[in-house]
Order: sequence, then structure tokens, then C-alpha cells
Amino acid sequence: MAFPPDLSAKMSFEDARRAVERQAAAVVAQGTETVDLLAAVGRTLAVPVAADRDMPPFRRSARDGFAVHAADLEQLPATLQLIGEIRAGESPERIPADIMRGQTVAIMTGAPVPSGADAVVMVEFARQSGTSVELNKGVAPGDNIVPKGAEARQGAVLINRGDLIGEAAVALAASAGKQDLEVFSRPRIAVLATGDELVGVAGSPGPTQIRNSNGYSLAVQVRRAGGEPILLEIAPDSLARLRDLIARGLESDLLLITGGVSVGRYDLVETVLAELGAEFFFTGALIQPGRPVVFGRVRDRFFYGLPGNPVSTMVTFELFVTPMLHALAGRSASKLKFLHARLGKEVHTKTGLTRFLPALISGEFERSTVELVSWQGSGDMASTARANCYLVIPPDRGRIAAGEWVAVMVPQSAM
Ligand code: AMP
Ligand code: MG
Repeated sequence: MAFPPDLSAKMSFEDARRAVERQAAAVVAQGTETVDLLAAVGRTLAVPVAADRDMPPFRRSARDGFAVHAADLEQLPATLQLIGEIRAGESPERIPADIMRGQTVAIMTGAPVPSGADAVVMVEFARQSGTSVELNKGVAPGDNIVPKGAEARQGAVLINRGDLIGEAAVALAASAGKQDLEVFSRPRIAVLATGDELVGVAGSPGPTQIRNSNGYSLAVQVRRAGGEPILLEIAPDSLARLRDLIARGLESDLLLITGGVSVGRYDLVETVLAELGAEFFFTGALIQPGRPVVFGRVRDRFFYGLPGNPVSTMVTFELFVTPMLHALAGRSASKLKFLHARLGKEVHTKTGLTRFLPALISGEFERSTVELVSWQGSGDMASTARANCYLVIPPDRGRIAAGEWVAVMVPQSAM
């Protein structure tokens, strides 16, 4: 792309997102480490976990009830002879070797079903008196029994390389006897806040200065998406210092710059990157907030220029940084998904941009609705903090009526 870039030639949201996904697809994650099972939550698995034995390891009863021959229950009610009881964890020598026709054993959920029996009748359909059991519901062979190995065969992969580890994966790993897991190392993500008006959080801002908050929101988003944030010192709007700090940031696995990418006279970020020989994949997207967002590469290091308005920074991270960060963290690619909810209150916007506006889902169960929170524009962090999602408005919709189904983006870096 030529520099200075043609700022009127901005990409659609979808094209920009695909440009990121294309670059992310070629990224190879570096480095792995072994961590304790519980510390692996939120990390990405590097070495697949396989089943150390069949799952379930024996023919398992899925219900409390009576193990039977299904053929004994063709006439109902059927009365069977009770010959024993099998609990979960029962020692094998106490399990009847066989069950004859006309016989049954009481069995508990999670207990091994004796050979011979081919179904389990739920206890709710049984009446026991002494050693006889009256059953008043029929079963088909296999009912309420999980065959040995039906969930996974010994040696089968349970969790794949590239999977995000959550509670279900941890439970699976535990069931396979893994006390620790090999995960990808967290990529190091440099965060560079730019602007003469910025002071650090511990500093005392002058009357026209503000504190650097984007460095913090970005650090949180980076962590959630699987990276290790490295906060660089604040860069003033001067070419020399910016050059230094951008060069330093490019030593990390990924550089996130916030501020200085709009068309103002002191928005110098793109100039410095162009001097460093950057290739720009896009220098703007037809979105609101976040229109001036920049994505590119200097040699083999990717960078983003995120607009400085605090809501723009958060939204553009979510939309465009997440796939790259996931790739650097070893995670398999996933598409951006929107949920849907009914719009609570009519929305009017100008057409032409895909909008991601701070919104609040409320109500409960199937009656949830989504409504915009009132805000002062993309600099308004306080409104965004009251929101719990973003309402997605397609570029061709100028008016959306109350009651319509609308797309909602729930920040996903954690998912
Ligand atoms: P810029 O993208 O540099 O034109 O900045 C757009 C707006 O975002 C301006 O009001 C900046 O003061 C504000 N801003 C830029 N960087 C930050 C930051 N790190 N924290 C909070 N606000 C910022
Ligand atoms: Mg600025």
C-alpha cells in the first residue's frame, strides 16, 4: 500500500477482519511450557491429551434402577427375581457373573452393568417387595447403559493441540490422569500509548492533560486473549521518541499502539511506521467506533494502530487484534460470532458504517432485550462501563424497529 495512504479508501468491516484472519493463519506459535492442571485454564494446549483407557472404562449404568433382559419385559407388568445389588465402584468379585432370564439386580448410577443384562429400568418404574421386583415399563436393549469406550476409545485424542482450556477440558484431562499439561507460552505483547496529553496513572495531570487509561484496558484484553502485556512508557507526539519506542515495541511478538492514527497534524504513528518500512494491510475500516484503525507488519512483526478514543481502542482490539493474538498464543482459528437478541428501543443511525455501539442486555430467560446505552461518543468510557455488550448495526440499516432481532457482540477475548 502506498504512503501516505489514501484515507478515503477504507475497507469494509468484513474485508478488514478477513485481512487479519489471513495473516493470522500463517502465524506459528513459539514456545511451550508445562503447567499444573488448574493453572492451565485459559491457556492453549500444545500437546494433545489422549484417553489413557476406554471411557467409560466399563459398561456403565446411566440410572439408578434394575438391570434386566429387555426381552423379559415384553408383558407388563413383569415380575422378576432380585438376586443382588451393584453399587458404583463395586469390587468386581461381588458382581454376579451372569443374570438368568427372569432375574434382575438392583444397580446404581455409575455402576458396572453385569454381562447378561442388556438394559436398565429406572427405579421410578419398579416396586420391590422382598426378593421380587415388579416392573411396569418396557425397555429396548441398550437403554440406560453406556457401552464401554462409547465416549472415547483408549488412545483417542480428547483435547486437541490449539484448544483453549476451560473447565470441561480440565475435567477431561483429570479423568485421563493428567496432573499437568503442556501449553503454549504466552506471547509478549507490547502496548504503547501515545499522546502529549497523557500522564501515567500515578502522575498528576495538568489542567489539559488526562491519564493513560488505554494502556490498562489493553493490558486486560491482552491477558484475557492469552498474551502477556508489556506496558512501554508513554510516547509523546514527537517523531524522535515515537521512533525509539515503536522500535522497542517491535522487539515483542506483537505491538499495539494506541492514539496518533487519525488525520490530525500530530498523528505521527503511521509516518514512523512507514519510515521503518511497514507494509500496511489496512489504514482504516468502515466502522464506528474505530474508523482510523491500522494493521500492518514491519518485517515479520505485526502491529496495530488503534485509535486513541477509549471505546474505539477496546472495540478495535476485540474486532481485529483478537485473532492475531490467539494465533500467536497457539489457538486454532475461530470466526467472530454474534449472538442475537430483540431490540428494546428503536435505533436510528446514518448508513455506511458497521457500528458496534455500547449496549445493555437486560431482562431474563427468553425475554432478554438489548438497548443502546446513552453515550457521549467513542471517548465515553463511563457509558461503556455501564454496558455489557455491543449492538452491531449493519452498514445498510438506518432505522431498526423495537422488537427486531439484532446482532450483539459480547466481548469474547475470554471465550
Ligand atoms: P488520538 O487517536 O491520538 O487522536 O486520540 C483520540 C482521543 O483519545 C483523544 O481525546 C485522546 O486524548 C484520547 N486518548 C488517546 N490515548 C489515550 C489513552 N492512552 N488513554 C486515554 N485516552 C486517550
Ligand atoms: Mg493523540
